[in-house]
Amino acid sequence: MESLDFATKYPFSQEAKLFIKDLTLTERIVELAVERIKKAVGGQTTARMLLHETDKQEEIASFAAARMILGTLRNQFLTSRFAVNESKTARGYLDRETEPLAELVAARFGIITKKDGERLLVDLPSYLRCSPRDIKYRLINKKLINGFVEIKATEKMRLIEQAIKDHVEDIPLVRDPPELIKTAGAKIISEMPKSETRVTIKVENHPPCIEKLLEEMKRHQNLAHHARWYLATYLLAIGTSEDDVTKLYSDLPDFDEKITRYQVSHIKKKGYSVPSCATIMTYGLCCAVCRIGHPLNWHSLTKERKEAIQR
Ligand code: SF4
Repeated sequence: MESLDFATKYPFSQEAKLFIKDLTLTERIVELAVERIKKAVGGQTTARMLLHETDKQEEIASFAAARMILGTLRNQFLTSRFAVNESKTARGYLDRETEPLAELVAARFGIITKKDGERLLVDLPSYLRCSPRDIKYRLINKKLINGFVEIKATEKMRLIEQAIKDHVEDIPLVRDPPELIKTAGAKIISEMPKSETRVTIKVENHPPCIEKLLEEMKRHQNLAHHARWYLATYLLAIGTSEDDVTKLYSDLPDFDEKITRYQVSHIKKKGYSVPSCATIMTYGLCCAVCRIGHPLNWHSLTKERKEAIQR
């Protein structure tokens, strides 16, 4: 039953599809799907212990049903949280997997690596397609060898994790869902945290690079580590409270309140200052030619000068 176990761990795989192709959607499967989405919102990556074949099949089907619910809801926040959580859960398995099985998952996303002596190489198109938006993964910081990129074994796992996230996040619109799915979707929405508990900050009147990050966060896109750090130093510097910065970050799909609160408080306590434009450029986060030297200088510009930059 090795492949059923594989399919349960990686429900997005082709193997998984085969195991549920004859299964009918039941209340139990939809219940599990709701649980799966709720776990994603709560950031829980722990998997259930499954012993019986039917339980494993239902677990796989719950992934498909959860996607159906999300395809009905079209809620970017839920979809992103779900995709991040599923990819992190799969990553947990991958880190303990044997090499051939990890290769099988990588191959599902067209990530083919090869050894060159001690080096591990991945072809450039796969690398560009699957690398996370993080300064560490920018090509400028990587070694290119004849159309291949040298990576570490952990980076290979990170590429697979990113590919899983992108795949799971790509959910088609479900136009006419079964009643069970509709009811489940309504239940999830009714139990979601209400927006009044969230903090909003006006996207306008900040330097273009900050506006861009705030927009991305509003759309529930994940931000790279450097981007989060820069945004937090900036928000704290303009007088946003630690609590409000933490709440703002709750729009991120991989938000973890405890970790965020700790990190924001650490930045404040250590008195980290907002980096200069030159440093932000090296992070790959600069998106305009403001010629102001430092993002905080934005606030002393005239309205006309700001408009000229934004044009
Ligand atoms: S020039 Fe400075 S303030 Fe303007 S977008 Fe770039 S980093 Fe931000």
